[in-house]
Amino acid sequence: ARRKGKNQIEFFDPAQMEAAQQRLSEESDLLSALENQQFAIWLQPQVDTATDNVCSAEVLLRQKQPNGQWELPADLIERIEACGLIVAVGYWVLEESCRLLAAWQHKGIMMPLSVNLSALQLLHQNMVSDLLMLMKRYRIATGTLILEVTESHRIDDPQKAVDILRPLREAGVRVALDDFGMGYAGLLQLQHMKSLPVDILKIDKAFVDLIPDDTSMVSAIIQLARSLNLEIVAEGVENQAQYEWLKAAGVESVQGYLFARAVQPEIFEQDYLSGSRP
Ligand code: C2E
Ligand code: CA
Ligand code: CA
Ligand code: CA
Repeated sequence: ARRKGKNQIEFFDPAQMEAAQQRLSEESDLLSALENQQFAIWLQPQVDTATDNVCSAEVLLRQKQPNGQWELPADLIERIEACGLIVAVGYWVLEESCRLLAAWQHKGIMMPLSVNLSALQLLHQNMVSDLLMLMKRYRIATGTLILEVTESHRIDDPQKAVDILRPLREAGVRVALDDFGMGYAGLLQLQHMKSLPVDILKIDKAFVDLIPDDTSMVSAIIQLARSLNLEIVAEGVENQAQYEWLKAAGVESVQGYLFARAVQPEIFEQDYLSGSRP
């Protein structure tokens, strides 16, 4: 037991000790996974509704499973966050993405990549300088790196978000607000959005799922995005009816299983960058 305050004694809690040990072993497992190339980035195409062509891709983390398959276990991101490794893993994802962008741009291909950023990563003090350094080292062309941040990041201080995102946008990064409509304050937070440094709004799959039966929410979101001059991406598009509706509504691009799931970068290059397929 150790002393706490004047007369209080805090007893050693075996359950807490166990939890701490578990976190430590989880951390070393994840670190060795990172070192042993058990993580990979996969790319899900995004399709331009005006041309039906692939116009960009979202970078999605995958982990090699014992059965040899590459998947993203449902709780992996949370576990990475819980043991404090999200900044390291997030940096790795950013660097892999910059490496791909640089290789493409070297060949004159200006396909943008959209990378997910966890809230903890966004708020980390070195994030901005680290990312600026990566962009410089890989000579990333303006507008080709997009950061996806979510509304539910609960950035309590909107000014803080502005301060973080401004230098990145000045360096040519674009910012997408991911999972829009799913945040804790939902549409009520809109007042803050006018000053938020965001370029793209991603409509969450939950609203796309309701098309064409109930389009009231998705219509409201589109109207809002228009009034804020934001480009719109709809995610989770699984059928043709949804695609037609979104296209007619003027949504710029869509992403979903109707077109493709995430694939390995080599497959993405083969299928969408080699010019051998429409
Ligand atoms: P998200 O950012 O909302 O990413 C979209 C998720 O929806 C992806 O799942 C994608 O595979 C899936 N999806 C895309 N189209 C469809 C569709 O038509 N139908 C259905 N049912 N699902 C579709 P995934 O790859 O399992 O990723 C889950 C979440 O994990 C992501 O949600 C994102 O929040 C997080 N995540 C993935 N990669 C990263 C990463 O590198 N960093 C961070 N911080 N988070 C990541
Ligand atoms: Ca995303
Ligand atoms: Ca999303
Ligand atoms: Ca989502």
